[in-house]
This record gives sequence, structure tokens and C-alpha cells, in this order.
Amino acid sequence: ADRALIARREKVLGPAYRLFYEKPLHLVRGEGVFLYDAAGETYLDAYNNVASLGHCHPRVVEAINAQTAVLNTHTRYLHEGIVDYAEALTATFPETLSQAMFTCTGSEANDLAVRIARFVTGGTGIIATDLAYHGLTSAVAEFSPSLGEAVTLGPHVRTVPAPDSYRHAPDVMMEKFGRDVQAAIDDLKRHGIKPAILITDTIFSSDGIFAGPKGFLKPAVDAIHAAGGLFVADEVQPGFGRTGEAMWGFERHGVQPDMVTIGKPMGNGYPMAGIVLRPEVVAEFGPRARYFNTFGGNPVAAAAGKAVLDTIREEGLQENALEVGRYLREGLESLTDRYHAIGDVRGSGLFVGVEIVADPAAKSPDATLTTRIVNGLRERRILISASGPRANVLKIRPPLVFSRENADMLVDGLADVLKTL
Ligand code: PMP
Repeated sequence: ADRALIARREKVLGPAYRLFYEKPLHLVRGEGVFLYDAAGETYLDAYNNVASLGHCHPRVVEAINAQTAVLNTHTRYLHEGIVDYAEALTATFPETLSQAMFTCTGSEANDLAVRIARFVTGGTGIIATDLAYHGLTSAVAEFSPSLGEAVTLGPHVRTVPAPDSYRHAPDVMMEKFGRDVQAAIDDLKRHGIKPAILITDTIFSSDGIFAGPKGFLKPAVDAIHAAGGLFVADEVQPGFGRTGEAMWGFERHGVQPDMVTIGKPMGNGYPMAGIVLRPEVVAEFGPRARYFNTFGGNPVAAAAGKAVLDTIREEGLQENALEVGRYLREGLESLTDRYHAIGDVRGSGLFVGVEIVADPAAKSPDATLTTRIVNGLRERRILISASGPRANVLKIRPPLVFSRENADMLVDGLADVLKTL
């Protein structure tokens, strides 16, 4: 039955819309940290960073259902929900970031951030990291090098390496990132391009899951500000408490972003995203650019978003991410003596990367082995993925309700896979 569905899917969706796994997963239901397939098998979800509260969290389901039954419309009428939600959301940020604009996807949020930054600064230059992914619109794809050969980086784009904590000492990284960003600024200027933004993940995801040493973003942010540009923190992945250490990843660095883009877990699956920003940034853009988004921040999105924020706080999910994240990393590290394929365990909270190598002394990446591990875990009903510039970093981002017992399942499963390879 799956084979027939795959054939229909390929015929109607085409080749760009790819599935995970050679033997794709046919899911029918989700609950908490578990997913269920059409054959009735149960999978531990250690990959999904959208359903942060757990799949189909009753509180969010209820909020969405209740609001859907009463009113959902575009955002040009006065409605309390969006105001209540925007107040609750901005209250989780430092005081300077006190206004919100809503979109439906992270891509749109980054697209809008660039447009605002270019308007405000009068510049066009963009600095991002070597393997960044910031989204799919044409403007954002121009500074998302991880999209590969189908995308050409814009002439106004410069990229810098993300901090590689496996191959560089912390003090080297602290200094290097700022220096690289300064060099990119200088290069833009040499070409007559005024810098508009530095945009980075605050935990680098597609660059290889690097958290980097605390504070390392500061010199780079100072450099872009000195050059008249803005700093955009892409929190689409690390945001909403995933790092455990703070609600927002940038807070680890003592920096003040001008704009913060958010998405993914914002509605626990209901599509919503946005920008939280300093009011000064949109003061001129707003009245002149007349931004409008049909669905962004509609009454149902606001209700879903509010339920997510309330649940993160009431269930202590940020604290859980910190505690279980630490426990999980310790568990993974305890495997390194026995299994030399594990070169490095890193991350923050429940945003964890495990670098797989052929030889730990040489730190030589092993993408083939990484794929076998991901597939081996799938056979053991545990879902993760792989990432990084050399496709050799296990990407582990479970729902924030992950328990110690779930972490044990993952660590034991990984040990079991490694034993057989
Ligand atoms: N920024 C980052 C860091 C992301 O990981 C993603 C999605 N993977 C996006 C932006 C784009 O978000 P969306 O898919 O909602 O457009």
C-alpha cells in the first residue's frame, strides 16, 4: 500500500518534494514524543522541532478548535487576540525588542527582515554563514548557501564560517568570528556595497549544530552596527526555550539584535512565524511600506501561539530542556570510549549534535556511516536526522517534553546501532 502511495505522490508532487528515509515513514498520528505509522508501529520522535510541546498537545488543539469555531479572518480588523498574543510574546524578550510583526513561515519572516533592513539602512549587503539556511523565498535563498547548486548567492552576499567548536579552541573562536565578519564588511565596502544585515542562527543548525562559546557573537554584532547595518538573530530553530539556558538563543551572547525572526514551534504545528524587533527599526518602514500578511497573526494563530507560550511557562519546558538536554549529552558522551565513531557531542539544551567520524584523531567526517546510523535508529523506531557541511552530524532536536527515560531510549538505541556497524 505504501508503494502505491509513494508512486502517486511522486507523480503528483514531483522530484523536489523529498521524503526522509529510503523506506519512507507513513505517519498517521502523533501524541507527546511519539509518532505512529499506518502499520501501528510507535516511533520516538527525537527530530521534530515544531511540536515542541509534544505532538497534538491538548491545550493547543483546544485553543485552535475553540477559536476556529468562533472567528478566523485576515488581520485588518480590530481583534484582541493578536494584541494579547503580541504582548505576551514581546514580554519574553528584553525591553528593547518590544514590537512584533506576524507572518506564516520563517522564510517570510527573514524575507521581511531583509526588506526592512535594506529600507532602514539604505544598504543592500548581507552577511550570513557558509552553510546557512534562512528560507525558501527567492530573496532569502540568495543567502541560504545550504540550498546547494540550484541557488546562486547574490552579488551583495558574503558568507563566513560558523564557529567549529570541534576543530577550534574556544579562545580562537571567540576572536575568529568577529574578525571574519569584519573582513566580510570590508569586502562589501570595497565593492561599493553598503552592509544592511548580519544574519545568523544563534545556535548554528545547518552549519553543523554549533552553539559556540557564550558571547562569541558580540564582536561580530558590534562590527555590523559600526558599519551601519543591523543584526538579525534567526531564532527559528533555537527559540522558544530549546537551548534550555534562555528563552532565546541570542541571550547566551549578551547581544542586542535589531530584529529576531521566529517560527517553527511558535504554534506547535499551526503555521505561524514572525519578527520581534526594536520599534525604531520599523518606525519609518511601517507607514511607508504598508506591510500586510493575509494569514499572519490571525485570530487562530494568536490563540495557538498564546497556548504555546503559556504551556512552555506552566510546564517548565525551558527548564526541562536544560535538565534533560544535559542528561542526554552526558549519556551520548558516555558512549565515546566504546564507540570511536562518535567524535564530538555538542549543543545546548535539547538542540544536540553528534559528529560522526572515521578516525577520531584525524576528526575525519564519515557521511556514509552517519546515514547508516540514522537508518539503523529508524529500524529501532527512533527518529533523528543528519546535518552539517559534510553531512556527518546527527541532528537531535526532540520535543521539549522529552524525559530522561526518552533520553535513555535514544542513547541505548544509538549504542545498539553502533554495536552492529
Ligand atoms: N531559518 C531557519 C534557521 C530554519 O531552520 C528554517 C526552516 N528550516 C527557516 C528559517 C525557514 O522557515 P520555514 O520553513 O518556516 O519557512
